[in-house]
Amino acid sequence: MSNITGDKMFSHVDRVAGDFRPITADIFLTNYCNNRCPYCTYARWTLPNGTKAMTYEEFITYAEKLRAIGVQGFILTGGGEPTICPDFLRITNWMEEQGLHYGINTNFNNLVYFKPDYIKVSLDGYDEESYERSRGVRKYKQVIENIRAYAEWKKENSPKTSLGVQFVAESVEGVLKFYEANRGLDVDYYSFRPLESTGGSYYKDKLKKTQAREITAAIKALAAKDSRVTLNFKWDLLEKQETTCTAQWAQIGVNERGEVMYCCHKPYQIVGHILDDDILEKKAQAQTDMSKCDIPCRMTAPNMFVAQTMKQRKDPYFI
Ligand code: SF4
Ligand code: SF4
Repeated sequence: MSNITGDKMFSHVDRVAGDFRPITADIFLTNYCNNRCPYCTYARWTLPNGTKAMTYEEFITYAEKLRAIGVQGFILTGGGEPTICPDFLRITNWMEEQGLHYGINTNFNNLVYFKPDYIKVSLDGYDEESYERSRGVRKYKQVIENIRAYAEWKKENSPKTSLGVQFVAESVEGVLKFYEANRGLDVDYYSFRPLESTGGSYYKDKLKKTQAREITAAIKALAAKDSRVTLNFKWDLLEKQETTCTAQWAQIGVNERGEVMYCCHKPYQIVGHILDDDILEKKAQAQTDMSKCDIPCRMTAPNMFVAQTMKQRKDPYFI
């Protein structure tokens, strides 16, 4: 059963039907990183200067507030790289003691042992050269060693954690090389995802669109042989440009300062602070420039679902 799907809003029809409280919180523990990915969302925007990591005490205060407003799942993500936050293990230990559902998006250059629901490693390479091209540093072997060590540890200590690796696929050749080099890893899934770009500019190019079709076919062929291979649902939404973010309420993005972002793709648009009494009102009232959206966006599928539920229908009494 894949955990990377576009239909998760079906599990939250209560919220969609009127109780628009956030389901997932994306939390940035740091605003600095040990990689230098050219596609990084955060490198594309001008953000406040100065490094900052969320402290254990700040995290608990924010997490308690997020729980109180209805959040059910926490994603530790970037921002920067979460595992290099000095209080990372104190924070994850606390979440585990509290029985919170949480996952992490990480480059896993840093080996840490903890017990989340999922670990998604942005691997993006098949040797040192390809890794450096995608992530700006030569850490491929290190990450592979870390994944192997964690996979071994998890068998005894955290068998329920789903461990997967992700590759941003830009060519069929890259997909095949990535799979060949990394298929021996003891991971639960390989996710191949398309490139996100501002306004979807990348796939507006005809050649890139043709390549996307070829890449999708190559991933499907691998998936037919290896059930761990996952075709990320975003491949079906490459050109889907929303006019409004109707499901924006379903997620809440909190940066390392406790500020609430319009969404985790727009770290430059702060709508308030998580400790503000009226943060949900501020969030609901915020407007955003949809031409600056990252496309394809993980919220596109939830947006389509919510838009369907909000559609005006004539004579709904007659089924
Ligand atoms: S690992 Fe993530 S936060 Fe760090 S540079 Fe790459 S995309 Fe950006
Ligand atoms: S990038 Fe756009 S579509 Fe995606 S969550 Fe943000 S506002 Fe919504």
